[in-house]
This record gives sequence, structure tokens and C-alpha cells, in this order.
Amino acid sequence: MAFKNTQEVIAVNDGVIQVETDVRQLIEKYVKTSPYELNPDTKKVDKIIKNLARRKLKYGHQYCPCRMISGNEEMDAKIICPCEYHTEEIRQNDICNCDLFVSPNYKPVPAI
Ligand code: SF4
Repeated sequence: MAFKNTQEVIAVNDGVIQVETDVRQLIEKYVKTSPYELNPDTKKVDKIIKNLARRKLKYGHQYCPCRMISGNEEMDAKIICPCEYHTEEIRQNDICNCDLFVSPNYKPVPAI
């Protein structure tokens, strides 16, 4: 993407920040109404939210940043966060595939 001037760059950056804020609000709203929590690793959460916002800007939906987009609208609808798979993943591992949502039983793996 080529920018014409600094103001255009600022406008694009403002757009990215706004989308990131919107995505964060949706995720936080979901957590309030679901049995899940956000990963206690806030740096990881910030990174995933940033990547969800990037995908929303690029593709129009907050597609899971950890999965491939197929181009098939019906199939891809299943990977809009919170995706169709996270419930089963959290049931099995206490954490979703991208490490965004965790169960209340989740215990972070200690760093070696
Ligand atoms: S794996 Fe987690 S972060 Fe990725 S879409 Fe599913 S719920 Fe969202």
C-alpha cells in the first residue's frame, strides 16, 4: 500500500486502532457472557487481538489468526472469533487453539 502523505498514514493508523478497540470490546463482552476467561498472559491477548483486527481490516471479519482462510464464505464463517471450535478445544485443553480464551481451570505452563 502506498501512502500519499503523512496525514494518510495517520488516518490509516487511526483506523487500525479503532478496529482493534472494537475487536477488544467484542472479545471482552463475549467473556462476560461465556464460561471462559481471557488468557492471563495479557501480552499474548494483546497480540491475538491485534491479529484479529488485522484480519478484520483485510477480510471484513475477525477471522481466527491461527487458521487458514479458505475463501469459502460458509466454511470461513466457522472461524470468525469466537470460532466454532473453541468450546471443544477448551473442554479438552482448557485453552483455545490461539490461546485467547481459557477455562477457569487453566493453569499456565511455567516457563523453563
Ligand atoms: S481459536 Fe480462539 S482466538 Fe482463534 S477464533 Fe477460535 S476462539 Fe478465537
